[in-house]
Amino acid sequence: MSVLVFAESAKGKVKKAGFEATYYGHLTAQSIGGDVVALVIGDAANAADLGKYGASKVIQVNHNGSFDSGVYASIIAQAAEQNGANTVIVNHSSSGKSLSGRLAVKMNAGLVSGVNSIPTADGGSFKVKKPVFSGKAIAECEINSANRVLTLMGNAYPPVEVSNEVNVENASIDGGASSYTVTDTKTADGIVPLPEAELVVSAGRGMKGPENWGIIEELADVIGATTACSRPVADTGWRPHHEHVGQTGVAVRPNLYIAIGISGAIQHLAGVNSSKTIVVINKDPEAPFFKAADYGVCADLFDVVPALTEAIKKHKSDS
Ligand SMILES: Cc1cc2nc3c(=O)[nH]c(=O)nc-3n(C[C@H](O)[C@H](O)[C@H](O)COP(=O)(O)OP(=O)(O)OC[C@H]3O[C@@H](n4cnc5c(N)ncnc54)[C@H](O)[C@@H]3O)c2cc1C
Repeated sequence: MSVLVFAESAKGKVKKAGFEATYYGHLTAQSIGGDVVALVIGDAANAADLGKYGASKVIQVNHNGSFDSGVYASIIAQAAEQNGANTVIVNHSSSGKSLSGRLAVKMNAGLVSGVNSIPTADGGSFKVKKPVFSGKAIAECEINSANRVLTLMGNAYPPVEVSNEVNVENASIDGGASSYTVTDTKTADGIVPLPEAELVVSAGRGMKGPENWGIIEELADVIGATTACSRPVADTGWRPHHEHVGQTGVAVRPNLYIAIGISGAIQHLAGVNSSKTIVVINKDPEAPFFKAADYGVCADLFDVVPALTEAIKKHKSDS
């Protein structure tokens, strides 16, 4: 049986998350057996590159409408059946989360969402691990049905090239009519969305007010990071809601998370504690965030942040 990966795309290109899911599909196929088939829905000029990350076959389905979880779930389920795939991998993104339940129902599959380990199938028993209780514990889940759907946590397996491009096959699969029409979409150009960001500069109530955010934006700009914030900051309108990270906001998993003037409440940590390296800047030595930090600076952020930005600028111009 094959492993089918739904490779997400946007603006005519496969997204980084799509390559991640494909590489994870490759590692999964190595563990449980089978080939990797990557599925792209809509235009994606770089679809052939999915071969480099482990897909032995790439199929592209024409779709002119916007994302609709029902239509996409139907296309993915049909592609899985046509390609003899009983394991389907999608990203744990807003699209992946919204379609995975429908997909599992259509495939009569067991669903494990938010996985961060390679599945095993020893003795026919399919097992995979996922973080639970805000990352404080790991659950090992066993799927007993013949078909499986997994959603993969972002940045869990950075994509690695393992092979070459493959030819892209066009397939005609009808997912049915969408029940709604998107009339307008507004996107922030040039900004890596938080779930995909490798570098995040995040700030909290310690900033005192929205008028002080210039130093955060400058630091983010100089290292090419995406900006984020704590929940009260978004709730009071200092920053837009899409920047709110944590239990009730976006979950991030970057290589570097810089937390500035954020206390480190459990609800905030729930969405950020899977970051690979955490740097905390806080003037209170008792701030709980220091317990989760890899590096901590106990000082006034209004002194540290501009000095850090200047030091990075100098380092860049010297090298
Ligand atoms: C059900 C529920 C869900 C929640 N979900 C979330 C969530 O998803 N995300 C989230 O973030 N919160 C969430 N919260 C809120 C959470 O409990 C905290 O209240 C919130 O995270 C605190 O935000 P903060 O750290 O920005 O502010 P504060 O707790 O006020 O902390 C500000 C920090 O800034 C430091 N500071 C102040 N001035 C300076 C300075 N000049 N230099 C350096 N440091 C300074 C202070 O020492 C302090 O540690 C949730 C709460 C509940 C009840």
